[in-house]
Formats: sequence, structure tokens, C-alpha cells
Amino acid sequence: MSHPVVQVEPLTTARALRGPFDYVRPNDGVDVGSLLEVPFGRQRLTAVVTGLADDSEHRLVAPYKVLPDALPPDLVDLGLWLGREYASTPARALSLMLPPRGAREKVQLWAERTADGDVALAAMDAAPGGRELRLTPKQQGLLQHLPRFAGNDLSSLRRLETRGFVAIGPRGRRRAPQHHAVGARKPPPRLNADQEAAVAAILQAPDGDRLLLHGVTGSGKTEVYLRAAADTLARGRGVLILVPEIGLTPQMIDRFVTRFGDTVAVLHSKLGAGERYDEWRRLRSGEAQVCVGPRSAVFAPIAHLGLVVVDEEHDGSYKNEGDPRYDARLVAEQRAAQHGAVLVCGSATPRPESVHALRRIRLPSRVDGAPLPPVEIVDLKTAAGAVAPRTHEALVDARKAIVLLNRRGWSNFLTCRTCGRVWECPQCDVALILHRDQNAVACHHCGHREQIPRTCPDCGSVSIARHGSGTERLEHDLAGLGKPVLRLDADVKDAGAVLSAFERADRAILVGTQVVAKGHDFPDVDLGVVLDADSTLRFPDFRAEERTFALVTQLAGRAGRGGAGRVIVQTIDPHASAIAFAARHDSDGFLAEELERRELLRYPPFSTLIRVVCASEQPNAAHLAATAVQARLPSSLGPAPLFRLRGKERSQVVVKAGERRSAIDQVDAAVREVSAAKAHKNVAFSVDVDPQ
Ligand code: ADP
Ligand code: ZN
Ligand code: ZN
Repeated sequence: MSHPVVQVEPLTTARALRGPFDYVRPNDGVDVGSLLEVPFGRQRLTAVVTGLADDSEHRLVAPYKVLPDALPPDLVDLGLWLGREYASTPARALSLMLPPRGAREKVQLWAERTADGDVALAAMDAAPGGRELRLTPKQQGLLQHLPRFAGNDLSSLRRLETRGFVAIGPRGRRRAPQHHAVGARKPPPRLNADQEAAVAAILQAPDGDRLLLHGVTGSGKTEVYLRAAADTLARGRGVLILVPEIGLTPQMIDRFVTRFGDTVAVLHSKLGAGERYDEWRRLRSGEAQVCVGPRSAVFAPIAHLGLVVVDEEHDGSYKNEGDPRYDARLVAEQRAAQHGAVLVCGSATPRPESVHALRRIRLPSRVDGAPLPPVEIVDLKTAAGAVAPRTHEALVDARKAIVLLNRRGWSNFLTCRTCGRVWECPQCDVALILHRDQNAVACHHCGHREQIPRTCPDCGSVSIARHGSGTERLEHDLAGLGKPVLRLDADVKDAGAVLSAFERADRAILVGTQVVAKGHDFPDVDLGVVLDADSTLRFPDFRAEERTFALVTQLAGRAGRGGAGRVIVQTIDPHASAIAFAARHDSDGFLAEELERRELLRYPPFSTLIRVVCASEQPNAAHLAATAVQARLPSSLGPAPLFRLRGKERSQVVVKAGERRSAIDQVDAAVREVSAAKAHKNVAFSVDVDPQ
């Protein structure tokens, strides 16, 4: 066997352990991407093969076993890239690429001969020895005795699979996800001139080109993706479609499945383990060539990608919260580059970063020809979040309205009228939020809950004040308007039921947090209201402007699809330029001003931000660790204290760098060094490249 050594990354979460480590190569079916189970110290770990070698300077041990599924080599490359790009570890990054867990070991894989396999078998019989076909005696034996349980010979069978002689999969019917009710295939609509031009631009784009489809809501972006996908499939290449959190955007999946049928695989968290695994296998084997899914679908094992679409590219759900803190938009770009695929990011409110970096194509008007709804700004003066008389009137007149208030719960915080006590989370330095229908006050950061207080524990007073209002209270307050009021926010269990009830209703008000502004397509909404438009502006964050503009514009896009509609934006800051630009539907104006501001202040895309957060339960330990990190990064800012979270004090250091690659490496080295020191052993470190 040439290359008797495999280089592997054992999948451990420890930051200090980085491979590759050498092991004995079990057999020549084991290659880059193979999954093994290896002895590692005293542990038994899953490991990914990242390379082969002729020798090793170490005394080698053999893996325990070869696991049935293997990653395609391009995902191994992607994992190694991702670990470095996000200052994480190869092991943590490669863990993201694994086939869906749970069902992996339980599923019985069966191998069958394909039509080509039959031909090969006939050729073998005609010329014994199989020289012509270059099959090993073992492979010949396997080919003769099919179908069979793939079990122990899986890696040899995989070799036959790559040559098209064998098909491998779970026996019997796959566990088809519910979306796969393939409907009547409606003929696609005729494209309008702007759509034609957009599709042509995508199809004529050179391999590896990156495009931004900037089109107002309802301008027919999805239809453009569908046409480009059809053409990509016709050229024999695969398609990846990323969408925001799927529970709220089933429409996109339906449209792809209806158009393309079984070649579409859907990967998302609501599927059962078995379903997810089957969809993964269908992609891996090439049976399915299109994948639609949220953030994590960016790791779908699609071969020969030709088109990668990121829909609603401004959406915050593309950023992963845990380590590695990857951004699926950048990963999508990297995957497209690996395959020479065309990248298409689409949005009505694209990020300044995308406008700066991508070639823009436009869909300037709605498919139905309707103008965008007029937007009226109502100056609230001081009472943030209250319903102004103008707004109240409009809600009375409206048939169907959507009202956005970006705060869950009944009220924002509770105080004692006698002694001034504020109810705070014992684990985090934040106020507890009253949830009347759950009969509790809760922390929105750690989930801590307590009963609603009747008396003040400090002074015994029974006079407790409730301040501010959230969606729950708003739902209650608007109930007097004679229309059903529906609520949609993270406290609502069945979002789908709420959305379809609103869709079916003749007259109704939908109240909710920013989820109400996302991708739903209701034809007959005649009023959109943003109750507290500057709430997002009050965050001390350079993306505050961008978020505010997007929220107001996206909500406006939900209103008046039929042509009759209007939007009211309440604010205590009517001159805030993000709000004024949104009210004029002037995204070009907003983007130009925003890019200018960022260039001036050297914010992304004109720099890279990297954030290091140190957290510890021990007093002052986080601050000391952050101080040590800061000292190793001369141009960094900090340490700055953050509010205590889940019982841990936190402190952060921020790097603003012109040279992305070297800055990431420097931060990684600094964090490794500091975290390895005994003095900081009770501190958790997290590194966030491109924090949101
Ligand atoms: P967007 O993704 O830009 O918000 P969609 O692609 O969802 O827009 O299109 C909005 C609606 O218009 C959908 O119901 C879609 O089926 C329909 N549509 C798209 N293109 C056309 C067209 N060329 N002619 C008629 N209807 C269209
Ligand atoms: Zn009190
Ligand atoms: Zn808390």
C-alpha cells in the first residue's frame, strides 16, 4: 500500500489540541475525508482523515475502525479553511461537516448494482480477470454478489460507487420529509424584462463570479433563482440555496420542491435525525443535486456546485452563535470559489459589505407593478413604544395590519415604587422581563425564571411598577379594536399556525417582533406599523443604522402588495437618517451614505473586526485575562467590561484591522498563549471574527 500513514484530526473540542496526528492507514479505501474512530489519549474519538503520508516520525497506532460515511474532500478543505478563518480549531470546524448525527450508525446501508454495474459484470464474464476494468479481485467479488448489506466492505463499495457501478443507500424507501409532497407542477410565469436581464447576467457570469441581486420585496427574486437553478442543473452541476431560519420561510422550500421535485433535498433542524441523514445521503450520492436550507446547509455535500444562492442575505441568522462563529455568507462564498460556482446574494436591503464587494444586478420594481407604499413618520416626542393617536386611527381603519415592536413580553422591567428596587436576573446583570401569560418574570439572556413578585423582598412594599411594553401587552391593548389580534414572537410555539391564521383572516392585526418583517408573502396587508423604529438605533453598534434601515424597509415591503397600502413609522428621532431613507424607499441613498460613514470611521468592509470575550465565574479573572490578551495585541481596544452573563463576569478586547489574514492569526496566537497560562485556567475565551 502506498501512503501507509493517515493524517487525521480527532474531533475534540479542546482549543489547545490541533492536529494533524498520524495513524496507521487501515486499508487503501481510506482516503481524505474518511471518518475513523481512533484511540486518542485515553479517549475514543471520531476523526477525519485530512491527508495521507508515506511515513511518520512517530510510532503509530491503528484506528479502531472505519466509519461508514465519508466526507467529500472539498468539505475537508472547507473545514480546515473555516477553522483558520474564524480563529477556531480544525477539529471544531470539521465537526460542522459531519453527516447528521443520531441516525448515522443505526442506518443499514445496502449496496445494489447499477445498470453500468451490470455492464461491467458482463464485461468481466467476457474477459475474466477484469483487467480492462481495472478492478481488484476483491472489487470483482463484491460486484458479483449484489445486492447486499454494505456493512464491513463499505469503503471498497464506495470505490465502486464512485465509478458508477454500485448504488449505496438505506434499504427501502427513504424517510421523505413532509415538504416532499410534490404538487402539481405549475408552468413557471413569464419573466419580465428585469428578471430576464438578471437571469441572463447570472447565466453568463464567468465561473467564480459573485453577484448581488438587489431587488425590492415582491420583485421576483425567487423566480430568478429558480430559472438560474434550472439552467445550472441542465449543465449537470449542483445548486445550493441558503435561506434564513426555515420555520418561517417554508414558501421558498415549497417553490423549489414544486419546480424540481425529488432532486431537491431539504436540510434543517426541524427534520428528524433519520430524515436529515437520508437527505444528506441523497446529496452525497448525487441522487439529489439541489439543497435548500438555513445556515448549516452551507455544508451540504453537493458535488460539482454550479450555483450558490444566499437569499435575504442581510439576515442575522446566517451568523453562527457558537464556536466556530462562522458566517454562512462568507462560507458560501468560499464554497462557490472552491467549485468555480457563481454566487448570488439576494436582498431588498443588502448589506453595505455586499454592495461594496459584489457585482450588483437590480430588480427595481414589484412584479405586480404596484408602487411601494407611502411611509409616514410619526414623531413620538418622548413616549417610546406607545401607540400614537394617528397610528391608533389607522389601525381602526385598516383591514389587515402588521405591527412591529421589537420587545417580547408584557413589560420591560419592574421596580419597587417605595424603595426603587429593580428586579434583575441573579445570573446576569439585566432586568427581568414580565411575561403575564406564563405567569413569570424571565431573563431573556439565560432563561432564568421566577414567579411574578407580589411584594418587594427588600422593603415589603406591595407597590410594584411595570415599565414599558412589549408584544404581549400590545396584543392585549389592541384587542379592543374589533379585529382579531394575533401575536408572533419567540414565545409563540407554532409560528406556522399564527401565520396561516393571519393569512386566512379577512380582518386582523398581526403583532410581533422583527420576525413579522421577514419573508412572508401576504397579498392583502394594507397597513404596516413600526412602533419604535429607533429602538435598534439605540444599540451602541456600528451596524445599528443598517439594522434600522433594513427593519423599516422590510416591514414596508410586507404592506400593500396589491397596490393599496401604507406604512406608519413611529420614532422619537424622526431625523435619524436610516429612518428617513427607509421612508423614502431610498436604499441607494442609504447605502452610499453608510459606506461613506464606514470608510471614514474605518469600519467593515474597510477593515476587519475581531472580538475576544473572556468570561469567568471568578471575580476579576475575566478582566485580567482580557488585559493579557490586549497586551499581546498592540493596536487592540480594551479591555472593556461587558454585563455579567450566566453568572460569569465578562471582558472584551476588540481588534480593528486592515490586514485580515495576519490579524486573525495574531489574535489566535494571543488567545492560545493566554489561555494556556495557568493563571487564566478558569477563564473561557471566545473569538468572534466579523462579530454582528
Ligand atoms: P421576491 O423574492 O423578490 O420577494 P418573489 O419571487 O417571491 O419575489 O415574487 C413575488 C410573487 O410574484 C410570487 O408569488 C411569484 O410567484 C410571482 N412572480 C414572480 N415573477 C413573476 C412574473 N414574471 N410574472 C408573474 N408573477 C411572478
Ligand atoms: Zn422595595
Ligand atoms: Zn439571566
